[in-house]
Amino acid sequence: MIPFNKPPYTGKEDAFVLDAMRSSRISGGGTYASYCQQWFEKRLGCYKSLLTPSCTHALEMTAMLIDIRLGDEVIMPSYTFVSTANAFVLRGAKIVFVDIHPETMNIDERLIEAAITPKTKAVVVVHYAGVACEMDSIMTLADRHGLFVIEDAAQAMLSTYKGQPLGCIGHLGTYSFHETKNYTSGGEGGLLIINDERFVERAEVLREKGTNRSQFFRGMVDKYSWVDVGSSYLPSELQAAYLWGQLQSVDDIDADRRRSWKYYNESLEPLAERGVLQLPTIPDACRHNAHMFYIKVKDIDERSDLLAFLKEKGIGAVFHYVPLHTSQAGKQWGAFIGEDEFTTRESDRLLRLPLWYGIGEEELNRVVAAVTQYFA
Ligand SMILES: *Cc1c(COP(=O)(O)O)cnc(C)c1O
Repeated sequence: MIPFNKPPYTGKEDAFVLDAMRSSRISGGGTYASYCQQWFEKRLGCYKSLLTPSCTHALEMTAMLIDIRLGDEVIMPSYTFVSTANAFVLRGAKIVFVDIHPETMNIDERLIEAAITPKTKAVVVVHYAGVACEMDSIMTLADRHGLFVIEDAAQAMLSTYKGQPLGCIGHLGTYSFHETKNYTSGGEGGLLIINDERFVERAEVLREKGTNRSQFFRGMVDKYSWVDVGSSYLPSELQAAYLWGQLQSVDDIDADRRRSWKYYNESLEPLAERGVLQLPTIPDACRHNAHMFYIKVKDIDERSDLLAFLKEKGIGAVFHYVPLHTSQAGKQWGAFIGEDEFTTRESDRLLRLPLWYGIGEEELNRVVAAVTQYFA
């Protein structure tokens, strides 16, 4: 069986996790957390980064930071993970879905303006498969209308847009270190990226249960107390230590994934030329991180048939998001503005092939051979 995913693991995690376990401090905000955050701040050039227990939690923090209130509207694609929407629904927002570009599955920036109302507070972009949205147009539009831009860059660590790291272009950005992503902090984890100085102090308070504990530890206040709303948004030192192990091999993991991605892309090109399937499009402005390799087939029936065929061959291929606006909760808390020209149609056709750090040429070959055989 070729699984769809294997969590990234390098072996360098062990020693750091053991070291954390044997230290006298294993709660959040410790030494390994500082190492990781400083690494991100240096590598990304962002103002501040904060480890969180998940990307979902980091997104919830963004909703608190931009002060989402009951009745505010937030624009996003419908083709995304539930957390992109839920984080804002939890604060009372109404979700406004707009259509996507069929080539990248990312929000169609040309449709955003028509969805803006006096209640609109933010645009949340999702860099699907680690491929950037059209950020220049989105930032210009948001500036003109006084909106916040949040980047759900859960899948996009090490991807760039015109050379800028994803997650560092909008006001706030988020990464995921879930085991299905390119890098993990031991199964679950996330990062809040702060690109606007205004948010730093409050983000630390929100993450520390609404207290000014972080300032207290830095000696800035002489006792700490409850100052704001908040929650417990700190991962443990064990998770930070695991991630620190992965960060030692960050470029190896990236290069390995990109090799496998390229292998699929080149090997399946003949099928694309025959017109039986479509390969992903990477716009010129984007350097992507090979988070995912997907193909698109004719329609949902052909996809089900191909998935069953691959399963029989012992290959763990999967489909992806069911558009949020078609779900029960999506209908309750959101509305699709404009025409659903591509969201449903393209999501029905999309199929993801196995791709993980360390997948071998033999496995890639078997997948390519099976897909080729299906279309023979
Ligand atoms: C994985 C993912 C999330 C959620 O990440 P968690 O760390 O599991 O909370 C959110 N948005 C997108 C686009 C994702 O791919």
